[in-house]
Amino acid sequence: MTKVRAKKHLGQHFLTDLKAAQRIAESLTTDAPNTILEIGPGMGVLTQFLLQNERYNVSVVEIDTESVTYLKEHYPQLEGKIIEGDFLKLDLTKYFQEPFTIIGNFPYNISSQILFKVLEHIDLVPQFAGMFQKEVAQRIASGPGTKDYGILSVLLQAYYNIEYLFTVNEGAFNPPPKVKSGVIRLMRNERTELPCDAKLFKQVVKMGFNQRRKTLSNSLKGMLGDIKPEGEIFRKRPEQLSVEEFFDLTIIIENIKNNA
Ligand code: SAH
Repeated sequence: MTKVRAKKHLGQHFLTDLKAAQRIAESLTTDAPNTILEIGPGMGVLTQFLLQNERYNVSVVEIDTESVTYLKEHYPQLEGKIIEGDFLKLDLTKYFQEPFTIIGNFPYNISSQILFKVLEHIDLVPQFAGMFQKEVAQRIASGPGTKDYGILSVLLQAYYNIEYLFTVNEGAFNPPPKVKSGVIRLMRNERTELPCDAKLFKQVVKMGFNQRRKTLSNSLKGMLGDIKPEGEIFRKRPEQLSVEEFFDLTIIIENIKNNA
């Protein structure tokens, strides 16, 4: 069968640089669970390197029928391991009862949705590695005080240690994307429980960054009602707060709510 025709609406930019593909596959550490799920394998450029590792039990999820046909033809080892469908709609607990690893050269059009889905399954996914557009990869890995720091950085860093590993240039793909790409690795941290209410934490982070130029006392008004909050923390802007400070802030708001 001839190669898969790249479809824009599926975010298809096939990696042609084998060295880069191998480096992504090797970005997983020895702590990563052997059960691997690759999102969006396309023509299997990354999959082939994962399959070479005998420790791994590799499954893939691919939405594109043409790619699935290609994979079945070229990788007989994947027999029974190809989930044909949309990762975003996949009931992960149905397929995985034990912790597993996620990897991929991901479809960039759904980067944030993939990451938000991982956030719903933090204990099932202790390691997550792969490629996003460089900006997204940097944003997730960056700390307070930078313009890249945002909702996903704080929420993911609450549960994962995140490393930016390397950059891949446009020319490594066919068709080449308009932007550079970045490979990152997320490893579940030691935090089994947040020091504050997890649901409220998520709301505080989202609401805080919704108007990132404003101080937190302004942007969190909707949560505070009539209360004029005191304390230095409310005079800051969201990008100035570390993950720990977002926990503190959530605890303060929890108390305000409880006493209201
Ligand atoms: N990993 C391959 C392909 C990258 S392009 C490579 O490096 O060459 C992104 C891939 O994700 C495409 O194969 C596309 O069909 C697939 N994809 C896009 N949206 C998806 C979704 N919602 N669920 C699963 N796969 C998806």
